[in-house]
Amino acid sequence: MIRFLVYLGLLGLAVAGAVWLADQPGGVVVDWQDWRLETSVPVLLGGVLAFGVLLALALGVLRFLGRAPSILARARRERRRVMGYQALTRGLVAVASGDAAEARSLAKRAEALLGDPPLTRLLLVQAAQLDRDLPEVERQLEAMLETSETAPLALRGLIRQASERGDLPAALGHARRAYELRPGAEWAIEALFGLLAKTANWSEAHALLDRAAKRGLVERETARHRRAAVLVELARASATADHARSLFEKAHELAPDLAPAAMGAARKLGEAGKTGKAERILERAWSAMPHPGLAKSYLALKPDQDNVRQVLRLEKLVAARPDHPESRLALAEASLAARLWGPARGHLTPLLEDAPSLRACRLMAAIAEGEGQAERARQWLDRALAAPPDPVWLCRACGTASLDWQALCPRCGGFDSLVYDVPFRALSSLASTAPPEALPAP
Ligand SMILES: [Zn+2]
Repeated sequence: MIRFLVYLGLLGLAVAGAVWLADQPGGVVVDWQDWRLETSVPVLLGGVLAFGVLLALALGVLRFLGRAPSILARARRERRRVMGYQALTRGLVAVASGDAAEARSLAKRAEALLGDPPLTRLLLVQAAQLDRDLPEVERQLEAMLETSETAPLALRGLIRQASERGDLPAALGHARRAYELRPGAEWAIEALFGLLAKTANWSEAHALLDRAAKRGLVERETARHRRAAVLVELARASATADHARSLFEKAHELAPDLAPAAMGAARKLGEAGKTGKAERILERAWSAMPHPGLAKSYLALKPDQDNVRQVLRLEKLVAARPDHPESRLALAEASLAARLWGPARGHLTPLLEDAPSLRACRLMAAIAEGEGQAERARQWLDRALAAPPDPVWLCRACGTASLDWQALCPRCGGFDSLVYDVPFRALSSLASTAPPEALPAP
């Protein structure tokens, strides 16, 4: 509105000026050599104005002609860019639909149009992955390392490639580089930690966990259990007994439910004559997670005690979890060793209601045999053949069962993946719902 008013004002002034000029008397005479021009002032001014406008127009046209090549080039570049991105998009669609050849040809077209290798290399990597052309995948990933933006992505791919072909040193090298580039990235920490564990670089793994936990990059509970597992492995590898003991104790402090930590600490404390402390550690571990190894360690602390005394000692160990099946089995086993048949059967009786486990059946057979009931013992041994298994160390990742705990799954190499659980849970639950066998309850 204001601009319109200003424009209107200027127009009014111009009209007033023109009217004033037209009203002025007099003329202009120009004499130049043989040429003479006679005219009035308004006509001359009008002529000068018209000449100025024509000159400005001519200059504008000349300037446009001068800039035309660069405008055309820009338009061409823009068109190529659009076509390049179209090729890239179609390439991604080709990858998604599993057409590697089409993806590769579109990647090449996109690269020719865009001249941006990092972007198109991603597509070439995916096309090569579709073809399972691993050397080509690695070649493209190595090329992506040259650009800082794509280097972390390339390292991630290279770690996976090297791990898949079992070249752990190469994978570890890539993981170290990835962690240097992205020390705050969860994937870089996970990759490096996993490879340090797989290659048994326990000290470095422990230091990495510490750093990551302090920065809040690993969840607190996960970090706690992982540190305990690493400490157990460090303790097992330790050359000096005192150092090993302190590492086992630290591991037990961090994870009382990790039986191997408590068992290691108890063994070392026992060797150093600190039986009382060893017992307290095993009792704490039992209350966190009962495990038969803890009972064995507890009994081994005082090997010269008679079997009846050992039963009394075990009652103290399991005091915090008296109804846990492991507590009943441990007491039954100790009572059996002390030839206390009645109490041994008494401990097992609550476990016989559902499908008793292999261990319970074998213990019942041993009790029957101890009591001189050979036929009943045989029946229990028969029943043991079909009994559900007892808990073992079971890998959460691959399902492999192991008798001993290790920080690494012996099959899949998963770290801290072993849990004390019943294998083939589905099988055992089937067994527990099966019709009761024709065996009378002893
Ligand atoms: Zn596993």
